[in-house]
This record gives sequence, structure tokens and C-alpha cells, in this order.
Amino acid sequence: MSSLQPVRGTHDLMPDDSRRHRWVEDTAFAAARRYGFGEIVTPIFEFTEVFSRTLGETSDVVTKEMYTFADRSGDSITLRPEGTAGVARAFISGGMAQSLPLKLFYRGPMFRHERPQKGRLRQFHQVGVELLGVETPQADIEVIALAWRLLSDLGLADKVQLEINTLGDAESRAAYRQTLTAYLSGHVDKLSEDSRNRLERNPLRVLDSKDEGDRRIVENAPAMGDSLTSAAREFFEQVTAGLTALEIPFVVNPRLVRGLDYYCHTAFEFTTTQLGAQGTVLAGGRYDELIATMGGPRTPGIGWAAGVERLSMLVGEPPPPARPIAVIPMGDASAAMVVAERLRRAGLAVELGYSGNMKKRMARANKVNARFAVILGEDEAARGAVTLRDLDGGTQDEVPLASLEDHLGRLS
Ligand code: ATP
Ligand code: MG
Repeated sequence: MSSLQPVRGTHDLMPDDSRRHRWVEDTAFAAARRYGFGEIVTPIFEFTEVFSRTLGETSDVVTKEMYTFADRSGDSITLRPEGTAGVARAFISGGMAQSLPLKLFYRGPMFRHERPQKGRLRQFHQVGVELLGVETPQADIEVIALAWRLLSDLGLADKVQLEINTLGDAESRAAYRQTLTAYLSGHVDKLSEDSRNRLERNPLRVLDSKDEGDRRIVENAPAMGDSLTSAAREFFEQVTAGLTALEIPFVVNPRLVRGLDYYCHTAFEFTTTQLGAQGTVLAGGRYDELIATMGGPRTPGIGWAAGVERLSMLVGEPPPPARPIAVIPMGDASAAMVVAERLRRAGLAVELGYSGNMKKRMARANKVNARFAVILGEDEAARGAVTLRDLDGGTQDEVPLASLEDHLGRLS
């Protein structure tokens, strides 16, 4: 029955998967906290305008990928395809302009109607940060340093590469737009239909096209660098100098643009060659006009988002969970339940089998990687004691039931 299949492009996280997933998220939050970020939790759906007005009417996300529906009141609602627009909306509606600078971390599901493939889902998860209210390059350097710290903490420093570019200020972009339009117009017959559309509305977007033919034309396009104002150039030089001072390796990729409209100045991506076509694991940039565009007080911002599923595919084994203690009844199952509950109250992880002979239960204890087995034999019970077996060493002792928690506490 197809309705019992997960919807295409969505997946379930079983305990082993979710342990990895949470580890990535928690590592991100722990790193963010070290840089002074606090967590913001915004709704997973917003009024459609929050996204359509900010991400850009020619962006792939807005033109093809949003999950948009009319709710029962007739309001047009969209499941969030990304995190920044919702954070900006929360900043405006929460009247947080007095609390700048603001450093916000978020995590959670995002929704995009894309063609599912390895590393590309319709419901996926991101961790991300936004630093609002700082117009100087220090902010760019600090959020990139945080991204690098996260990837290093996950053991990925050798697997990813930081690519960085500048999209300049408004003046630089206007100049570049002209140069680029002139160049692309000379190749218009070879551009994909999408890119011909973009050419009129937002030629920079063509640089981000995934179409093979487009990419060949883009390869020889004039670079943004030649159109930069001296102020924009200096801004970028400060950012790269900061990265060098912090010993964060990077390459300048003059063709790097971001898929959404609100970016200016710094744009960056951490990419890997280990995930096939879906090589970008973390991406971000500066968006000084976004909040003003939405109708809020002009507030500069910079941030990034990382795909948790893509990171999860790259990372090694997360730290193992605390090893449990197996409680094994030889006779009275209810007595075992009482002992297990006592140990759990004392803060220990306890695995209590529901059925089976001694051999089966010991096999189960090994399977869950239990550290000790507490065996409740009838003879020992009569003496008010239990057998405590060290499953690593293979030794065992008789321990008074009354002081079992203390005993285990001393051992672990
Ligand atoms: P791509 O070029 O892969 O489509 P994007 O530019 O659309 O990525 P962003 O909007 O910058 O991606 O999102 C940041 C990160 O979120 C990406 O680098 C990626 O790791 C992850 N991501 C984006 N879309 C998906 C998806 N459909 N499935 C899984 N992860 C995704
Ligand atoms: Mg995309």
C-alpha cells in the first residue's frame, strides 16, 4: 500500500541514524555557544510572502521548490525551505532592533520539492547561524571561523574545502550586471530556457545554473572581481586577511554566487568531493539589505546553513552512548523490574530483558554492549544479594542488594 511508504524524498531516522544526526546538531550548537550564539526556534511554516519576497522571484527555490498551500483560513502558507528568512521575520516582528548585535543559532527541518537523490531530500535538516547588526568584516570572519570550527570538531577538516567570493556592494553588482549581461547576450542561443529567463531578470543567477551547457558558457564569463568598487574590494581583502590570520585555509572562487537573491559582499561554501554531485555541505553569505527589503529597520547580517544529512554521511562514528547494565532475572521477573527501576533512578542506563533463558539474555546483554550484568539468582536473593558480572573482565562477585547502586557507582 503506497500510503504506508514514506513520502518520496523524506526518510525516517532510526536510533542509529538519529544518534549520528543529533551528534552533528549538538556539535554545531556546542560550537556556536562557544562563539556566543543562542538558539532561536522559529515555526516551520510562515506566510508565503516571507519567502517569495526575500529569496528572489527567479530563484530555483521560489520558482520550483516551495511547498505552498492554502490553509483552512485561505492564507497562503509555505513550509520553510531555508532558515534565514524566518529568522529575519522573527527579528522584525519581535522588535529586536534594540538588542543588536544578535547571534542566533537554529536547527531543524527544511522542505524543498526537488528531485530526490543521494544528499538531496524533500524534507532535510539544517543547522545554521545568523549574526545580525554588524556591518564590518569581523562578523564575516567570525561566522566563517565558527563554520570551520564545527567542521573541524566533526573531524572533517581534511575532507572539505572553503571557497569564498565577494558579490560586492550594490554599485559593484550594478556594474557587473551590465558586463555579465553583455557577455551572456552573446551566447543567448546556447543558454538553457531557465537561464534565458534569468538573463533578463537576474543575470547573476545564471552563474549558479546546474545545466551543463550553461556551465560551459559561464566558465568564460567575466568575473565579478573586475567590477568591484574599491570599498567592496577592501572589504573582501579584510575578510580574507582575517581568515589567513586565523589559519583557516580557503580558495577564492570568482564564479561562486549563491542561489538566493539577498546576498552581498561575502559568499562562501564548504565543499567536498566525497558526496558526488551534492558536494556543498555548508554555505552562506552576507545579506545587508534583506531585513530592509522585508520592511524592517535596515540591519546588516551574515550567516550560513549546513545540511545535516550531508554532514552525517561524511562524519565517522559518533561517540557511543553510555554502556548499560543488564539486569537478568533467573526467577522472579517483578523483582528484576524493581531492581532495574532503582538503578535507573540512580541515573544508570539499564537493559532489562523481557523473556528468554540465561544464555539468550546474556547474548542480548552483549549485543547492547552492556558493561555489567546484575544476575538475580534465587540462592543469592535468599541472602539479600545479587551476582555482579564484569562483562569485559569476565569476573564476578556477590554484592549486597541494598548497596548495589553505590557499588556500581564506584565501578563506573
Ligand atoms: P544545492 O546547490 O546543493 O542545491 P543550495 O544552494 O540549494 O544547495 P542552500 O540553500 O545554501 O543550498 O542550503 C545550505 C545547505 O543545505 C546545502 O549546502 C546543503 O548541505 C543543504 N541542502 C540544501 N538543499 C538540500 C536538500 N534538498 N537535501 C539535503 N540537503 C540540502
Ligand atoms: Mg538547491
